[in-house]
Amino acid sequence: MSASSSVAIQRIRSVAELREWRGPAGDVGFVPTMGALHDGHLALVERAVRDNEGAIASIFVNPAQFGPNEDYRAYPRDEERDLALLERAGCHSVFLPSVAEMYPPGDDMRVVPGDIASRLEGAARPGHFAGVCTIVAKLFGMVRPTRAYFGQKDFQQLRVLQTMVRSLALDVRVVPCPIVRAADGLALSSRNAYLGADERARALALSGGLLAAAKAWVQGERDATALRRTVEAVAHQAGSLEYVSVADPVTLREVAGRAERAVISLACRVGNARLLDNVLLGMTLDELAEL
Ligand code: AMP
Repeated sequence: MSASSSVAIQRIRSVAELREWRGPAGDVGFVPTMGALHDGHLALVERAVRDNEGAIASIFVNPAQFGPNEDYRAYPRDEERDLALLERAGCHSVFLPSVAEMYPPGDDMRVVPGDIASRLEGAARPGHFAGVCTIVAKLFGMVRPTRAYFGQKDFQQLRVLQTMVRSLALDVRVVPCPIVRAADGLALSSRNAYLGADERARALALSGGLLAAAKAWVQGERDATALRRTVEAVAHQAGSLEYVSVADPVTLREVAGRAERAVISLACRVGNARLLDNVLLGMTLDELAEL
């Protein structure tokens, strides 16, 4: 078989088919996504393929994690393109449920996250993490993965889901994966599709600001206020900054004074896109994986 020929990816649309595919044995790596795939998603898929006997991605734009004035309807969808990319990345199967399959008649239960979900994105998007936790808990129950792969790009989501797995004693290993960036530094995101050329150029100030803070950190800066101001001084050029946070990576509480470790995260509206980015300082993703 030549390197370019790949086995056709198996498309699974119902929970019944999914249970049949899963069977009782073997380790399975799972990558939940909302589609509009890019190299950030594909890096998670490649890792899942490498680490497990079976690899499955899901594509589901989950209405429950969007607020009433958010972009649920406008969210980019291109199933055929996504399937070709997954197939090329060596993904064995993909779960493509309908809204009715994920929220069937009789569905009447939600996972309600606690303190870790209360600030930053949780404060900006009421109900968002309850939507995320509920859908991921359902997907875990359906796929029963050995390992599940999540990007550092959505740092708080990663911590909320790690906390859910621990709190509910779910039998799955959460594997955090690094942020994949464009060559110029912009964090890849499905929502970058909303950016015009000028906005795309301005958005570079977000990774630019975080990079400036990371450099200051390497030079010994540990004061949380100074780090936040370093980011803001550059990142404000991107658009309307919603927040720049210097928080403890484990609790996500804001650091007052000196930081021994930190996640600096930001949200910014650039045109029609609401963009997130972050940098982890004084702690590695491997250390985070062990929490
Ligand atoms: P989404 O489709 O936006 O729900 O994202 C699905 C998964 O891909 C989540 O675990 C994200 O954190 C991850 N992800 C999104 N963008 C990136 C990126 N640039 N680098 C790494 N992972 C990412």
